[in-house]
Amino acid sequence: MIMEMDKKNGEWSTAKALEYYNIENWGSGYFGINEKGHMCVWPYGQPGPSIDMMDVVDEIHDKKLSLPCVVRFQDILRSRVQTLIKTFEKQIAEKNYAGKYFGVYPIKVNQMREVVEEILDAGADGHFGLEAGSKGELICVLAYNTDPEAITICNGYKDEEFMRLAMLGRKLGRKIIVVIEKLSELPLLIRIADEMQVEPLIGLRAKLSTQGAGKWVSSSGDFAKFGLTTPEIIQAVQILKEKGKDQGLKLFHFHAGSQLTDIRTIKEAVNEGSRIYSKLFKMGLPIEYFDVGGGLGVDYEGSNTTSHSSVNYTLEEYVADVVNTVRQICRQEKVPEPNLISESGRAITAHHSCIIMSVFGNIQIGMEEAELAKQTEDSKVVAEMKELVVKLNIKNLQSVFHDATAKKEEALSMFKLGILGLEDRAKVEALYWKLCRQIVHINSRRKRIPKDTAHLDGLLADQYLANFSLFQSAPDHWAFDQLFPIAPLQRLDEPPSREGTIVDITCDSDGKIDQFVDPAVRRNTLRLHELKEGDSYYVGLFLLGAYQDIMGDMHNLFGRVNEVHVFCDDEDPEDFYLEEVIPGDNIADILHRLQYYPAELLKSVKKAIDEKIKSGNIKPKEGMTLVDFYEQVMKSYTYLMTEEERNALHTNGAATSYSAVSALPLESSVPLTKTA
Ligand SMILES: *Cc1c(COP(=O)(O)O)cnc(C)c1O
Repeated sequence: MIMEMDKKNGEWSTAKALEYYNIENWGSGYFGINEKGHMCVWPYGQPGPSIDMMDVVDEIHDKKLSLPCVVRFQDILRSRVQTLIKTFEKQIAEKNYAGKYFGVYPIKVNQMREVVEEILDAGADGHFGLEAGSKGELICVLAYNTDPEAITICNGYKDEEFMRLAMLGRKLGRKIIVVIEKLSELPLLIRIADEMQVEPLIGLRAKLSTQGAGKWVSSSGDFAKFGLTTPEIIQAVQILKEKGKDQGLKLFHFHAGSQLTDIRTIKEAVNEGSRIYSKLFKMGLPIEYFDVGGGLGVDYEGSNTTSHSSVNYTLEEYVADVVNTVRQICRQEKVPEPNLISESGRAITAHHSCIIMSVFGNIQIGMEEAELAKQTEDSKVVAEMKELVVKLNIKNLQSVFHDATAKKEEALSMFKLGILGLEDRAKVEALYWKLCRQIVHINSRRKRIPKDTAHLDGLLADQYLANFSLFQSAPDHWAFDQLFPIAPLQRLDEPPSREGTIVDITCDSDGKIDQFVDPAVRRNTLRLHELKEGDSYYVGLFLLGAYQDIMGDMHNLFGRVNEVHVFCDDEDPEDFYLEEVIPGDNIADILHRLQYYPAELLKSVKKAIDEKIKSGNIKPKEGMTLVDFYEQVMKSYTYLMTEEERNALHTNGAATSYSAVSALPLESSVPLTKTA
C-alpha cells in the first residue's frame, strides 16, 4: 500500500531511518546507517572501523556468488566474546569477588568450525572453553578445546561411549567436567573412570523451582527434561560418598532456559542455585565452579521489555546480578565464593551473522480505478460504489465500509448471474480497494480504530517478494514467531513510501514475515521503498547467528545458502576482505542427499531427448543444447537467479566486476486483486 505523503515523509533523513527501523536499539552498537544512506557495520562496536553493507554486496557479486548470501562478521564474534569476558572481569574486580570467570561456549548454538575457532581464539587469554551436549559435539570439542586451563562441560544424556570420550579427555589432562543430568549416569561415570584409571571431574545439574517467562522456559522447573530434583541431589551425594568420589564433585550447574527475558528470573535462579551450592559445600563437597548455564538473552526487537523477542536488561546488568547475588549468598552462608561459569551461546553468536537477499518484485493489492479503461458507461452498481467513495468521512466510516462490502458482494453475484460485465466488476473492485485505502489512512490518525476495519492495513500491504527461504534461514520466526530485525541496505536516506510484508520463494503460505520489530507496538507491515525498474533492492535479515543456521531445513529443496566471512582489514580501517567463501547447496547436492543419483536423472532425460531426435521431433543440435541446459541447471544454486547473476555467469568467469545496480527483472507494480 502506498503511504500518503504525510508530515513524516516530508522530513525523512537517515536519522529518521535509524529510528524507524529501530537499528540502534537492536544493533547493540554494531549496526547503523552511513552518509550514503547505506546500512553499515561497526564490527568492533563504535567508534571503530566501519563496513558498508553495499560494498559487501558488490564484493559478493565480484566473487560470482549469487544471493541470498549469509554474511558472517567474524570480528563481531570476537567482540562479543571479549565483551562478555571483560564484563565479568570488571564486575569481579569491582566487587572484590574471590572467584574467577571461566566462560564456555555451548557449540549447539552454532557448531560451524569457523565460529568455534573464532570464539576460542578471541577468548584464549580468558581461557574460554566449550560445552558439548552430545557425542558428536564432544568429538569436535575434544579436538578443539586444547587449553588445559579452559573448561569443557559435558551436558545432555550420556551413554557409555560418551563417558569414555570424556575420560579420554581427562587422560589428556583437560578440565572436562561431566554434568550428571540423571541419577543413573553417576554410577556409570564412576565405573568408566575406574576402568580407565582417571579421576573424573563431576558436576551436578539441578532442576530449580524458579521458572521464568518466555518461549524456552521448559528447561527449568520440576518437570524439566534435564537435571536432578532436590531428593535426587541428596541421593547423588550419598552415592559419591559411598564410592569415595565426593572429592571429585567440582561443579554445580543449572540452566533456567534460553532467552530469559526478565532479569528477575535470572536473579531468582542464581539465588536459589547459590543456596543449593552453599548447602552442598557445607556437606563437605569441594565444589569449585558455579555454572549459571545459558539464558543471557538478545534484544532482537530492541524494545528493552520482557516481550519474548526482547530482554529487559543489558549484558552489564546480567553480569552484575550474577556476581552480586552469588557473592551476597556466599557471604551470608559463610562459604567460599566459587569460580563462575556461564554457558552463553545466543548472546555471543546472534549478532555476527545476517542474510542478504534481493527483492525481485512486489505484489500490490487493488489497482487505481483511473488505470482501468474508460470507454464503457458506468453501470448502476459502479455509480453507487463511486458515491460511497465520495461520501466517506471519519464519522460514517464504519457504515460506509459495511455498505461498500455489501455492494461488492452484490456486484459479484450479478457477475455470476451474467448480468454484470468483466470491466464493471473490475471497476467495483478497484473502487472498493480505493475506499479501503482511504479508511486505513483515516484510521492511521485515530487513537481508537473500529474493530471491523482494523485488519485492513495488513490486508492492503504490498507483498515484497524476496529471494530466500524462511524455513532455511530464520526457522525460529516460523516456529516460534520470534522476531528478527529487517532493514533495506540502501536508499535509507529516501523515505520508504510503501507498507509491505515480506514473502519468500517457498510454495508455502507460511513462508512470510508479517511481524516486524518496533520499540512500541507489534507492527504487521514494514515501510519499504518503491521498487525501481532496473535497480536492485537489497534487504538484510539480521541477528541470525544463534540457532538459525543449524536448524534450517530443506523445505522445497532450497537448502543451504551461499556464505561469506568478512574480516576487517587491520591496515585500512575503511576496508575489509572476504576470507572464506562457502558455496551453498546446488540442486544436485540436495537431490543426492535424498538418495537420487543426479547422473541417473541426467541419463533418463537424455534418453527421452535422444528418442525425440530419432523420431525427428527435435533437431540434434537443439537436443544437445537441451541436455546441456538440464545439466547446467542441476549444477546450479537452488535459489532464483537474477539477470545480473546470469549475465555474470555467462562472462565465463572473466574477472569483470558487475554493478550491483543493474538488470534485475523487476516485476514491480504487478497489480493483483485479492478478494477480501
Ligand atoms: C542451549 C543451552 C545453553 C545455551 O543457552 P543460550 O541461552 O543460547 O546462551 C546453555 N546451557 C545448556 C545446558 C543448554 O542446553
